[in-house]
This record gives sequence, C-alpha cells and structure tokens, in this order.
Amino acid sequence: MLAPSEVHFECIRCGACCRQIEMIVTLTGRDITRIANGLGLTPKQMIRALDFYIPHNGDEIPPGLEHIPQVLTENGLATIALKKSEDGECLFLKDSLCMIHEIRPGACRSFPFVFDNSSEAISWGLSAMKRICPGLGNGAAVKESDIIDTATEVLEDLKIYREFTEEWNQSNITHTVSNLMTSINSDTRFLV
Ligand code: SF4
Ligand code: SF4
Repeated sequence: MLAPSEVHFECIRCGACCRQIEMIVTLTGRDITRIANGLGLTPKQMIRALDFYIPHNGDEIPPGLEHIPQVLTENGLATIALKKSEDGECLFLKDSLCMIHEIRPGACRSFPFVFDNSSEAISWGLSAMKRICPGLGNGAAVKESDIIDTATEVLEDLKIYREFTEEWNQSNITHTVSNLMTSINSDTRFLV
C-alpha cells in the first residue's frame, strides 16, 4: 500500500476519466437506484442509460471487471455499466462536467484509486489508468481517512450487490433485463 503522504490528488474536473474508451463505468444496485431516484427515472427509462457487457465465448473479461459481479440476462451473464458513446464518452458528461456529480457511481467516486478488502484490512492503490488523470500530483497529500471512508462505502455497496446477484442468478424469475431492473428497484438493500 502507498503511503498517503506520497500521493497528492485534487480532481481538476477535466472529464478525462469520463471520456476514456478503455474505462467502463460499472454499476452496483445502489448506484442504479441512486441515479434512478435522483433523476426520477422509471426502471424502463433507467435501462436506456445502461450498457450490458457480455464477454463472447472465449473472450477474457476486460481488466478491472473481474471483481464486479455479473447478472444473468436473456443474453447471458453481463456486467452492468453506464452507457457510453462509440468514442467512449459517458452519457452524463456535458461540456467536460458530470451532470450527475452528486449521485455519480462508486466507480467514479473512487477514481483514480482502487480498493481491496480481500485480506482483513482495507487496502488501496492507484488505478491502472492513473496515467490519464492530471489530478494526481496536484493539490495536497491525500488523507488516508478520506480514502478509507470512500473505500468502505464502495466496498459495502459491492458486497450487497454481490449478495443480490447471487440470489438473482439462482432465482426462478425469468432473467430479463426488465425483471432485473424491477427487482433492483424494489430491493430495500439498495435504498440510499
Ligand atoms: S481524470 Fe482525474 S482530474 Fe480529470 S476528472 Fe477524472 S479524476 Fe478528476
Ligand atoms: S457518471 Fe459522471 S463522473 Fe462518472 S463517468 Fe459519467 S460523467 Fe464521469
């Protein structure tokens, strides 16, 4: 783990991470309900803001996605993410600013840091995509307590989402995206 005093970071809101074609903005159930409730979207409208990444036979899961739970859909196991344009720009980016900043997903709140709690304590490091972030090296040294607070929230969201996906994938419900959104929308664990 890096020493916090070695890492200076202040986001300059350049939007580089929001238009990076190699970065997929994965979502948890709480991310989905936070955005849907914040924008007043029905489950059907929320589906239009999503992409479902389904590795084809033999394809490897892209780096960074291997720890994100996959959900069963009518087209196979999928990772849910925010929709991007063909050139990689997030649906919610406008004039280099995030239109949903206050309710942005955990993946966006985390960048350029990554977290891990596979051992007893939470550890953190820098994203493999750190090179694109001009906020790194800018501003004051990061406070470890701030990073751990974000990590705790994000990892808790992921844990609850993992529990949900395991239940969903084994359930007798017809595994359509439409039913999935209704289930996420009505699951009290995702209320934020
Ligand atoms: S690339 Fe870095 S500085 Fe730019 S918006 Fe993203 S987190 Fe902020
Ligand atoms: S939700 Fe906001 S912060 Fe996240 S990628 Fe989209 S525009 Fe950027």
